[in-house]
Amino acid sequence: MTEPSIFTRILNGDIPGEIVVDTDTVFAIRDINPQAPLHVLVIPKTEQYRDVTELAAGDPALLAEMVAVAKQLADEHANGEYRLIFNNGPSAGQTVFHVHAHVLGNIEESKLVGF
Ligand code: 5GP
Repeated sequence: MTEPSIFTRILNGDIPGEIVVDTDTVFAIRDINPQAPLHVLVIPKTEQYRDVTELAAGDPALLAEMVAVAKQLADEHANGEYRLIFNNGPSAGQTVFHVHAHVLGNIEESKLVGF
């Protein structure tokens, strides 16, 4: 058996983390190293999918649920507008191979450069 991911360990209460959303299928935690005033990770409870490519192919409804939770977080903690980032593969910056969406909000204008 493989070890639970860092996110599953937070969900299970094995390590500390601030859970801000908890539904039947997804949860959200504040990122430990925030890149914007709002920086939350939205994560499916299943560890079945390593990245969004696998998730979109395997369970598009679950991906849609993640996007709906992202919007809910942006409504509650920002002005309803948000950046949604999925890193896919180590060379793209992915470090945790349990699919997760970064939800960024209240981003300083000066930090929006690049794309
Ligand atoms: P990735 O680099 O895979 O796209 O994103 C992983 C994210 O998980 C990073 O932004 C990192 O800061 C966050 N992270 C890693 N370990 C922990 C942790 O123990 N607690 C929390 N809340 N976030 C974590």
